[in-house]
Amino acid sequence: MQGATRTTCPYCGVGCGVLARANQDGTAEIAGDPQHPANFGRLCSKGTALGETVSLDGRLLYPMIADERADWDRALDLIAQKFTAAIAAHGPESVAFYVSGQCLTEDYYVANKLMKGFIGAANIDTNSRLCMASSVAGHKRAFGSDTVPGNYADIELADLVVLVGSNLAWCHPVLHQRLLAAREARGTRIVVIDPRGTATCEGADLHLPLAPGSDVALFNSLLAHLADTGRLDQDYIADHTNGFEAALAAARATDAATATGLAPAQIAAFHALFAVHERVVTIYSQGVNQSINGTDKVNAIINCHLATGRIGRPGMGPFSVTGQPNAMGGREVGGLANTLAAHMDFSDPVHRRIVGEFWRAPLLARQPGLMAVDLFRAVAAGKIKALWIMATNPVDSLPEANAVRDALKNCDFVVVSDVMRNTDTVAYADVLLPAAAWGEKDGTVTNSERRISRQRPFLPIPGEAKPDWWQICEVGKRMGFTEAFTYAGPAAIFSEHADLSGLENSGTRDFDIGAHATIDQASYDALIPFQWPLPSGGTAHETRFFAHGKFFTPDLRARFVATPVRASANTVTRNAPLLLNTGRIRDQWHTMTRTAKTPRLMNHIGEPFLEIHPRDAAARGLAPADLCEVSSPLGSVLLRTLITTRQAPGRVFAPMHWTGQYASKGRVGALIAAHVDPHSGQPELKRMPVQVKHFAAQFHGFAVSIKKPLDTPTEYWALAPARGGWRLEFSGTKSPADWAAFARALLGADNAELLAYRDTARTNYRFAAFAGGQFLGALFVGAEPVAVSRGWLAGLLLGPLMDASSRLAVLAGRAGQGIADQGAIVCACFEVGRNRITDAIVAGAQTVSAVGAATGAGTNCGSCRAEIGGIVDATRLAHAV
Ligand code: SF4
Repeated sequence: MQGATRTTCPYCGVGCGVLARANQDGTAEIAGDPQHPANFGRLCSKGTALGETVSLDGRLLYPMIADERADWDRALDLIAQKFTAAIAAHGPESVAFYVSGQCLTEDYYVANKLMKGFIGAANIDTNSRLCMASSVAGHKRAFGSDTVPGNYADIELADLVVLVGSNLAWCHPVLHQRLLAAREARGTRIVVIDPRGTATCEGADLHLPLAPGSDVALFNSLLAHLADTGRLDQDYIADHTNGFEAALAAARATDAATATGLAPAQIAAFHALFAVHERVVTIYSQGVNQSINGTDKVNAIINCHLATGRIGRPGMGPFSVTGQPNAMGGREVGGLANTLAAHMDFSDPVHRRIVGEFWRAPLLARQPGLMAVDLFRAVAAGKIKALWIMATNPVDSLPEANAVRDALKNCDFVVVSDVMRNTDTVAYADVLLPAAAWGEKDGTVTNSERRISRQRPFLPIPGEAKPDWWQICEVGKRMGFTEAFTYAGPAAIFSEHADLSGLENSGTRDFDIGAHATIDQASYDALIPFQWPLPSGGTAHETRFFAHGKFFTPDLRARFVATPVRASANTVTRNAPLLLNTGRIRDQWHTMTRTAKTPRLMNHIGEPFLEIHPRDAAARGLAPADLCEVSSPLGSVLLRTLITTRQAPGRVFAPMHWTGQYASKGRVGALIAAHVDPHSGQPELKRMPVQVKHFAAQFHGFAVSIKKPLDTPTEYWALAPARGGWRLEFSGTKSPADWAAFARALLGADNAELLAYRDTARTNYRFAAFAGGQFLGALFVGAEPVAVSRGWLAGLLLGPLMDASSRLAVLAGRAGQGIADQGAIVCACFEVGRNRITDAIVAGAQTVSAVGAATGAGTNCGSCRAEIGGIVDATRLAHAV
């Protein structure tokens, strides 16, 4: 792409390289960077749609104090004054920062330096606590350091890839595509360990739908099996590890079949596959980490790799993949409350001296601060008097989300830095700071394989927005720390970060990028992606840790960790008989502040939903597409019912993305108790007992509208953008007295021509609004979820003026004969709908690849290929009957 800027995707931890070029219309051209070693030109649906998310719609463009526009000086002075006053009156522990894996490393570095070095407390934690803190704790227990041993190439060199608690196909799609390509090329075997059937299971050799949280039992049984069948690497255990006997004893005490609910034959099949393949990579993600025994799960996995010596060599090793784009960068700078900068530790006096002297920070915090859940509990208890939230949305994403919301309401002073004017968290800010967004930011991020890449700006920073690092440094200066927070820019911060990493290191600490300690602006601008470690004098190359069997423990030996099975506190009861699992969907990112800006990404799944097994649905009188109320003692949500055998009986699943901005009651964080892992502080987000009931709506409706519907007065609504307008699902228990008035108000069409169809006896109402032939919107109401062609109706919003007969046809809610209606979108990359795919199959495309050749669907990121496979099977079956 001519004139493109090389940058990095801001979504998941794969860290794909992106080529980006600004368009005149405010959008951007986007392509995968063929030279980036994470993706070699590939992008997933989210990355592909990045150019549609950079508009200024909804952006926060100037500072605000108490909802009034303010200038930067006033806002920054007020923040410095409030933080300084709180510290003076209540001590440094009375203030806190809550930051994000969206922050660039340079932002993270100065935030950590200000809190831990100069305020003198360690109350800075990050939303990465919710993502991978258990992996950090597990790595440190086993290796003495938070080290990801391998790299992405190992996935391609492995003979067996075990995916644990990872829906790689949807959550790390480009990595999944690399795995599938390797399978195609060399027959890699794939095992998926996940309580539910996901897109990742399609094409796996083995899927183990174990009971939620029982991974420790499964890997314990594997360790015992390896010992019993002579598959251990005794030399490696003797020469490079400690603690094997205790770990094996705990493993032998495990009854895996009972704990996991798996058939003995399924467990045996997994054991056999692991035992016979030397090159094994075990990838794990949030399904492992987000658990009260997440750290034990990590160590149970690592134990099996250590016991077989399968670590540090090509094609083998345990591999934690992070959710966020810069979770790893946050770990490097000590963005977690319990770590110091540059992978150093509070518990080591030498580390505290190194950091304190380097920063010239006599007040350096001496002990860990509050982790995310405890931090917000301290806010609720009134112990935190001043809180600064950056680039994250805790009112939706944390467990006990309603308590978090109430805590912010009652906090003395809350600062929020964000790119968006309206989020559920922004509503509670005393001071609102406009931040630079992706495309405008300048700095570095680190992906899951320890590869540091540049995020480069290709758009001007709009309005009065400023980068996070600048905001933090300005507050630091105003608090009296001018010298420590005067930087020429991100390059100077990166250079300082690199310098600290190499200080008194000499290979004693894993994180070392000392080679860049003196980097200048030109070299920083030209920096190409590299993996750490890269010590002073080194040159960039592919890196792998532990090849020589040396670890970062005092005796240089890895530690086996005994992992006895512990029961979760979250067990089902009579009043909460179903276990709720939460997670991500293919086309959304976190709390949707960016991905919901593009219709393309809202077309696949546009509403919050609950996946439930047919048996559990029938027991509650739930039919497909009914609404259901999901409740726990902490709160309730309203979700669309998706009945599927992908869920086991007794278990349900809901996505974590929806917020109060896009649905009336879709915040699943409000349901979840904040039980945390004792080692990592990471909350259990995958196992919450809930009750599910049918929501007896009297009416269901669907609308498309050029204007954004405001104040929808129904119990349930879910809003999504469409090209040229909006789409809205709504339902309620009390019908409006006048549906026509309701339609006019909802569509913002007071003076428009309103065509109407009414069948009161059957609760069937249809309205279409026009202004001089221009389609303004339509609204459909029924006693059941309305069966209209949503994609076709949304497509009319951008259409030409309509004549009288076309206007009447809108009321039918479906395209007439001979008019294209491609149906619900399946492939977001090329916007290919279900009807087009079905037509291609009927015309002879009998495989997923053939459908791809005919329509393009599934040929970019490939994360819809499993769904296309399902349509191929269903269509062929229908035509065979
Ligand atoms: Fe971005 Fe998708 Fe790559 Fe993740 S896999 S970094 S979301 S393009």
